[in-house]
Amino acid sequence: MSHPTEPPAWILIPDAAYRPDPLPKRIRDMYALHGATEGHACKECKHLFNHGGHTHRYYKCDLQRITHGPATDWRTSWPACGKFQEKPE
Ligand code: SF4
Repeated sequence: MSHPTEPPAWILIPDAAYRPDPLPKRIRDMYALHGATEGHACKECKHLFNHGGHTHRYYKCDLQRITHGPATDWRTSWPACGKFQEKPE
């Protein structure tokens, strides 16, 4: 039985080919304006709120333009921007 001496071709594809999409412009704009807060995520911030009532979870940032559509939905996992303020317990 022979063993391959080189890795399969799919391993040689640069990492860039597998990078997930960058964060959307709306959160990147927050970093551009306010910087970032390391070690925290939007889910811990008092500016993040649920816009979906009791039946749905559509998170929005109250420091950003808010619509009723998905274009202004916010992800709880996004790294916090410089306007981060910890939610009260
Ligand atoms: S950290 Fe807070 S203020 Fe900054 S984008 Fe997230 S929810 Fe908005």
